[in-house]
Amino acid sequence: MRSGTEIFRRAMRADPERRVALLEAAVAAEDIAWDGAPPVHDVWEELADAYASAGHPAMAIRAMERAVELGWNGRPDHRVKLAEFTLLAGQVSAAGALLEGARAEDPDELWLYNAAGLMYADNALHAEAISWLAQGIAVALDGSGSDDILEQLVELRAESLFQLGQRPDALQLTAVDRLNALSPTEQDQQPVWPPTLAHPKTSIVLAYFPADQLAQAIARWPELDEPSWEAYARQLEGTAKRLLAAGANVRGFAPIHVNRYVAACAEEGVDPASAESRAMHATRAAAAGDCVAWPPGRGERCWCGSGRTYRRCCADAPPAAFV
Ligand SMILES: [Zn+2]
Repeated sequence: MRSGTEIFRRAMRADPERRVALLEAAVAAEDIAWDGAPPVHDVWEELADAYASAGHPAMAIRAMERAVELGWNGRPDHRVKLAEFTLLAGQVSAAGALLEGARAEDPDELWLYNAAGLMYADNALHAEAISWLAQGIAVALDGSGSDDILEQLVELRAESLFQLGQRPDALQLTAVDRLNALSPTEQDQQPVWPPTLAHPKTSIVLAYFPADQLAQAIARWPELDEPSWEAYARQLEGTAKRLLAAGANVRGFAPIHVNRYVAACAEEGVDPASAESRAMHATRAAAAGDCVAWPPGRGERCWCGSGRTYRRCCADAPPAAFV
């Protein structure tokens, strides 16, 4: 008798098409022992996800229905997973109906709103994402939900607002205030730079080392410790998104040229290693017109200078967590 667990593990390491094949064979075979984890209904759920990843939403829906028949009972409601695959199949109103059904049953389930926000945003339906996330945020503000999920809802919504070129609205700013109030210690530990939630209207220019300056900067300030320019750019992108989610007006990135910067700091008698010095330098550079605007507009090249469009480059970097 073959071990279902072993096949499952192998499938999880495979690419989507191969994963589909392995999981299909696994759930069809009769000589497999499902005594260990995972239970067979979870394997059906994984198969559903694999179908979706491989671009077969209709089969994903059928596999998920089978998982439910066999006892799948995860959170949030199974209709949320079905909605995800239905949306992938392009059936927007059917997906909406599934989500509405799940909400009617349990309107306080915050993960429902989180999942809805994610699936709509994944399908570039940002207005729907914003609306579902707004409902979730309202429920979270009303109740005593954990601040983790509230933070996630707020960040997802900030991202969709950003995608539509909208500024944070009153609900968004209220939620941000709540997050601040929930984590007073964390807030106390916030450095003066970059300014965060307490200063929602602050206009910010972020200092950065361009690709041809980063190696030199790391040699001088080893604490920068970035594995690659790409990783560094994604981290900057995440910081900008974090600040945007906090309601800040992020104007863009100002480049720092190491030698010129060090010389300027020496002249002024300030420490070039400090974040404050870099920030001051960035603000001045921006005032002099030396600033890459962020976020890039629709179809524009990425601010990081990779040459790719923003959408295909740094746009998918997640918002950075609080330091
Ligand atoms: Zn980029």
